[in-house]
Amino acid sequence: MQGNKTFIRNMAQIADKARRAPSDIARYLSKEFGVPVGIEDQRLVLNGKFSNDDIEKRVHRYFDVYVICRECGKPDTHLENAGRGMFFLVCEACGARYGIKNY
Ligand SMILES: [Zn+2]
Repeated sequence: MQGNKTFIRNMAQIADKARRAPSDIARYLSKEFGVPVGIEDQRLVLNGKFSNDDIEKRVHRYFDVYVICRECGKPDTHLENAGRGMFFLVCEACGARYGIKNY
């Protein structure tokens, strides 16, 4: 069923750039696309056919919301689980800390 899957080959670069675990990105995309997402040979595997455009948009949004600090615009952040469906995004560059919805 190769034809019904979409592979994201630059997963490692995305994860590096975002400073997030590949499994975090898999979980996010799984939620966004509503399909299971696995990791196979350094690639993300989406269970379904999706266009590059769609994927790029989603990955871009991930950075906007979950990586880039909205105070200073830098990507030097990490997430803390805040419970009740929330994260804290903590910026190591400017010290900002704010709640965002968990995915
Ligand atoms: Zn910041």
